[in-house]
Amino acid sequence: MKLFLIVLASLLLLGCTSTNPTETAYHVHSDFKVYLNNQAFDFSLEKYQTPYVCGDEHKESNIHLHGGNGEVVHVHDEPATWKEFFESLGGQLSSTCFIMDSETSCGDLRFFVNGEEVFNLPEREINDLDKVLITLNASQEELSAQLNSITNFACIESRKCDVPEGYVLDKCST
Ligand SMILES: [Zn+2]
Repeated sequence: MKLFLIVLASLLLLGCTSTNPTETAYHVHSDFKVYLNNQAFDFSLEKYQTPYVCGDEHKESNIHLHGGNGEVVHVHDEPATWKEFFESLGGQLSSTCFIMDSETSCGDLRFFVNGEEVFNLPEREINDLDKVLITLNASQEELSAQLNSITNFACIESRKCDVPEGYVLDKCST
């Protein structure tokens, strides 16, 4: 009986260490902004946010926005593309159109990664610490202001920058 209890206790302990819910091998963050006719798209709205369900946060998608922050995307478990990210929010991104909430915006759609213009953003992987701008019909002047408005949250979330005082990191992986 004693031996049985010891074996049982060891099994339980092993079980706990191997299924630590806060441990994910792949977890990257990228800052991003979407501007449509110089209007910043607000991804902080609740409908775009995934609520925290600690240990089970990838139930619907491995890509999400959390904590009311609509400016940094989290990717867990496996790599994802920008197209997959917008699809996970019920929208679409192509080289010419941005669709969200059944509203289609097409025109002069341009993509910037770390200040450099790219043409294949939808197919690109979301990389750790990338700063991404998706902009529709921007003038040159608007473009520089938009690029400057991209935040620096990914660096904090990826624990590669100091955490500012009062900043709440992902509750599930403190
Ligand atoms: Zn995260």
